[in-house]
Amino acid sequence: MTERITRKLTRPVMIGDLSIGGEFPIVIQSMTNTKTTDITSTKKQVSELIAAGCEMIRLAIPDRASVTALEKIVSYSSVPIVADIHFDDDLAIRAIENGAAKIRINPGNIGGRKKLTAIAKKADAYNVAMRVGINSGSLEKDILNKFGAVTAEALVCSAKRHQQYLEEIPFTNLVFSIKASTVYTTIKACQLFSETSDYPLHLGITEAGPPSVGLIKSAIGIGTLLAEGIGDTIRVSLTASPVEEVEAARKILQALGIRSFGPELISCPTCGRCETDLQSLTAEVEKILNEYHIPVKVAVMGCAVNGPGEAREADIGISAGKKQGIIFCKGRVVRTVKTDILLETFKQELKIFLEMVDPDSPGGFNR
Ligand code: SF4
Repeated sequence: MTERITRKLTRPVMIGDLSIGGEFPIVIQSMTNTKTTDITSTKKQVSELIAAGCEMIRLAIPDRASVTALEKIVSYSSVPIVADIHFDDDLAIRAIENGAAKIRINPGNIGGRKKLTAIAKKADAYNVAMRVGINSGSLEKDILNKFGAVTAEALVCSAKRHQQYLEEIPFTNLVFSIKASTVYTTIKACQLFSETSDYPLHLGITEAGPPSVGLIKSAIGIGTLLAEGIGDTIRVSLTASPVEEVEAARKILQALGIRSFGPELISCPTCGRCETDLQSLTAEVEKILNEYHIPVKVAVMGCAVNGPGEAREADIGISAGKKQGIIFCKGRVVRTVKTDILLETFKQELKIFLEMVDPDSPGGFNR
């Protein structure tokens, strides 16, 4: 039996027609990096993000022209659009009027409680959710003085303060995010907040960097929290194409067994027993798997002696030797063939296997 993560249940919140929190799937978010006013480019990127599996898209709204563009992009997008607002409460109010499904504000720079209240009242009138994004870079001075530094406790104190302000209005259509400049503080702050709040949490590691480091930081930060059952939406922030963020988010969710988006490829690290170019073989198998989206575990192993046993949990696997290779299912060898026809045989066996898994789609698993 596969052990699964027990999710901490938060209160469900509607973002447009998408439910988050509660027992709803953990939602993948990203953010466009086009100028929002460049409607053509932004629509194109929205389409690319949706095709990649993005389920909620945030747009930067730095000025009035962006608010006007927002309306057109909202009506174009099949997923909820979130307006990202800094410093200007008026932009937040206009973004709500122009169709944003959620607004993300940073209470540290929106201009005080009065302005926050005005935005919340407008959001309430339009049934729009608000993400309160607590950020280590804009913590209130009195909290900084009290805690002496940007600690997890200080960040949670700020989040709780704004939670209280908003509940007193009352406005509770809320999602929170707490982000620090270090992975550890972000993890600790989200853990602390989650212990005393049932509002949905959006997870992300801010300024994570280019993929070479950002993927690792995000996998650690987001992954640790998800493994503890914390988190309702995620964004992998990368200095890269936002499509890469979505692909990474899917991989994190799939690696933890939380959601499945297609075959899971496992391969051995190789050792002195390996008799083949396993890197090339793995790349070939990965290409084949890209054509399918059924959640099966596929192994590529470096030797026929140990491979099937080491990859016993794989639904189907392949290992190549010098002259011949094997195909195995759940650790049992099902075909032994010459190396030159191994990959082709694997393709056939995989197809047969997938047809058994999903008989309603005979041979039709290709996207
Ligand atoms: S499967 Fe074979 S080659 Fe790969 S790590 Fe294990 S023993 Fe080494």
